[in-house]
Amino acid sequence: MPELPEVETIVRQLRDVVQGKSIKAVKILDKKVVDVRIAALPPSTIQRITRRGKYLLFHLDNNNVLLTHLRMSGHFQYGKEPSRYTAAVFHFQDGTLLTFNEIRRFGRMKAVKEKQLPKILSPLGPEPLECSYTVFKQRLEKKTKSNLKTTLMDQRVLAGLGNIYAQETLYRAGINPQRTVGTLQEGERKKLYHSIQSILRRAIRQGGTTIENYTSLEGAGRFQRFLAVYEKEQCPKKHSVQKMKIGGRGTYWCQKCQK
Ligand SMILES: [Zn+2]
Repeated sequence: MPELPEVETIVRQLRDVVQGKSIKAVKILDKKVVDVRIAALPPSTIQRITRRGKYLLFHLDNNNVLLTHLRMSGHFQYGKEPSRYTAAVFHFQDGTLLTFNEIRRFGRMKAVKEKQLPKILSPLGPEPLECSYTVFKQRLEKKTKSNLKTTLMDQRVLAGLGNIYAQETLYRAGINPQRTVGTLQEGERKKLYHSIQSILRRAIRQGGTTIENYTSLEGAGRFQRFLAVYEKEQCPKKHSVQKMKIGGRGTYWCQKCQK
């Protein structure tokens, strides 16, 4: 599932190719994935493309926003003809087209008003790359009895981390994913904060992680080469990696490196 670095990569690429373009028509092929009202919107121009957590937002010049969540396998393609997985086709005035494709049909795109956005996005926690250590600490303080890894993936605590980056940041910080939030010492919490920052930044530079079907407009990401524990048999120090379920999600960790 695309997490913050993957969505950020897609947002940056979309800005390069469709920001500023005028939408002539939208053809909706999968009504479960794409809100049918989008096809009925008056012609408009994509003013800005932004990200909030794992959401991708197309801000139109008529105060509408196309709020998009890729979920498992949603992806965009620019300048390619629709496929059997295409949920919507955006035709631009200049004759180019953008398709939103979703193989598993969990992704969503809906039309909302710009003024509704603050309320819709209000349950989300802060952006991990914009949040100070003090804010990070305050967010965790509300969850002292909860499992640490599950808390990192909780979008109300921090917006953007999912199963892969929660595991990788815990490995980098040397912390056992089974621990509860309240057991963290100040030094461990700082190390975790800095691990989140450095891993997310590096993953963005590498265009995200491609494990199964994540693809940006330019193809696969490259961060999978840098994964330490996720789906690994050995950690970078050649210890054997353990696998268990935490909160129902497969979790990889190293007994020797993570305490
Ligand atoms: Zn290890």
